[in-house]
Amino acid sequence: MTLSPVSARCFNHASRPAFALCVSCGKAICQSCATLWDGRYFCVDCLAQQRAAAGRRRAILRSLATAATGAALLLFATFLRAWLGALLAEVF
Ligand SMILES: [Zn+2]
Ligand SMILES: [Zn+2]
Repeated sequence: MTLSPVSARCFNHASRPAFALCVSCGKAICQSCATLWDGRYFCVDCLAQQRAAAGRRRAILRSLATAATGAALLLFATFLRAWLGALLAEVF
C-alpha cells in the first residue's frame, strides 16, 4: 500500500516522507524502513515478527514431514514383512 501524495512522515525518521503503511501495525514508514514481504509492506519490527512466525511454521512443517516419512517407512516395512512372510510360507 503506497501513499500518494505523501503527507505523512516516517515513524522512525521524522525527516523522511512516508513511503508505505505497515500492514501489521499501520505505522507510516519511509522507503528504507519498508520491506516487501509476501507482497505487503512491513516495518522493521513487524518484519522480524513475520520472519520469526514463518520460521516457526517451517519448523512445524519440517517436523510433520519427518513424522509422516517415518510413519510411511514403518508402514512399508510392516507390509513388506507380512508380504515376505506370506511368500515364504507359500514356497516352503
Ligand atoms: Zn509494523
Ligand atoms: Zn524510516
